[in-house]
Formats: sequence, C-alpha cells, structure tokens
Amino acid sequence: MALSFEKYLRTQKMPHIWCPGCGHGIVTQAIIRAIDELGLNTEKIAIVSGIGCSSRAPGYLNFDTLHTTHGRAIAFATGIKMARPELKVIVITGDGDAAAIGGNHLIHAARRNIGLTVVCFDNNIYGMTSGQYSPLTPVGSFASTAPYGMLERPFDLCELVVGAGGTFAARSTTYHARHLVNVIKEALTHNGFSFVDALSQCPTYYGRRNKLRTPLDMMNWFRDHAVPVSTWEKMPPEEREGKFPIGVIKKVDAPEFSEVYSGLIEKVRERGDE
Ligand code: SF4
Ligand code: MG
Repeated sequence: MALSFEKYLRTQKMPHIWCPGCGHGIVTQAIIRAIDELGLNTEKIAIVSGIGCSSRAPGYLNFDTLHTTHGRAIAFATGIKMARPELKVIVITGDGDAAAIGGNHLIHAARRNIGLTVVCFDNNIYGMTSGQYSPLTPVGSFASTAPYGMLERPFDLCELVVGAGGTFAARSTTYHARHLVNVIKEALTHNGFSFVDALSQCPTYYGRRNKLRTPLDMMNWFRDHAVPVSTWEKMPPEEREGKFPIGVIKKVDAPEFSEVYSGLIEKVRERGDE
C-alpha cells in the first residue's frame, strides 16, 4: 500500500520554501519513509534543526519539532536526549550548519556516543544565504565566495565522525532514494550516535555555478561518482580519486551516553549521596 504522507506533514505550512528541483524534499521524504517503515511511535520522536534550507524541514513535519540557532541543533538535541532519554531524537542539519559553525557540537556528540540520529542534508554550499562555500565545497568548485574556484580542502564528514569516535556513519544520495531510506532506517535503529551524510542537490546555487545546470544533471553526477562501500574497500587509492563511498561506513556497538548517565544517577541514588 502506498505511504500516506499527510499524517506526517503539517500541510497547513505548505507550500514549502524550497526551489524547484531541490534535493531536500527527497531527503525529507526518506526520513518520513524510514520512520513509517520502522513503525516508530510519532509521539516519541523529537526533530531538531539549526538554520539553513535543510533546517526548514522540521517546520513541515508533524512531530514535536524545534527550529534552533545556527550550528546549535546538536546542542539542543543533546539537552532533549538527556532530559528525555526515551525519545528518538533526530537532528536535521546542513553541511554549513553541521560542519562549520556546528562542527564542535558534531564531533563531541560523536565522541560521547549520545543517542541522536543526525541527517546532514549535504549540498556542498550555503544555500539559504545565496551560495557561499562551506567546509564541504570541493576544491575547484565555484561559489559566491569562491568566484575563482574553491581553494580549501573539504571535510569527509563520515570520516570526521568516525575519527571523533562515532559509532555509526553512513552516506547516501538523493539519486539513491531507496538506499537513502534504508541507511536512515539503520541509523534510527542504532543505539548511540548515528550520522547520515545525505548528499542533496542545490541546483539554484551550486549546480548552476558548476556546470550541473539541472537537478537531473546533479543527481546523475551522484549516480556516476558513488561507489558502494563494499566495492570502495577493495579499490586501490588511484581508482578512488573523484569518487565517494555510499552505504554504512562504520557501525560498532558502544555504551550510549544517556544510558551511561542514567546508570550513574542510579548508583548515586543507591549510595544515598543526593
Ligand atoms: Fe534547495 Fe538550494 Fe534552493 Fe536552498 S537554495 S531551497 S538548497 S535549491
Ligand atoms: Mg548546505
């Protein structure tokens, strides 16, 4: 049976603000599908966002949602998870929001292994503020603040999360829409910090400056450069050049932080130290 999206959406907030062909609707849809297919209790989900085009998504979602300040979504979400550990807390963020101003929150949430699922709508650019380069803009790409091409080297966000001690990191794209749903489902069922790098097209500010003139060109670029992680692991470095892995890049078990913290509270109570 086809999924009815209406119960998950605040239809009174439509039309949405996204440009025609923007990938953010596809990623938002993937989150809804993942929640629906897992049969999660919508009363037990909180969705938190920062600032940017991606971060408008929770405004359209019929859950308990919080639209916060730039780069601070993970900090707000951490507070929610610590106060209400029984909730499934999802963070919707962008590459600028998560990796620039919010980069510190990202690495420490990964290090703590706090039970948040972060979905980064990664379009290599600051979309909402008209196309400035972000820490994800590839070298040589053009942006409003890189008219001669980007000089800085970008992050690999999954590697950053893994390097910070993250226990779950995965990547997918809007071209691989079904795969994206599956990856988000895995992230949502991981007990601990889970991070999904969801590559999404911004035709308005990234595509038109970078010879990817249509949303379809951008999605075809994802198709042509993505490599399943199982293949990626066997590829020699020279073949990896210009490509990126998709799928679950890391998944290991480790104690989840809000549970560890609750355990400490219990111990202190038993000792009568209150
Ligand atoms: Fe999407 Fe880019 Fe338009 Fe923002 S500016 S809504 S990211 S296409
Ligand atoms: Mg962006």
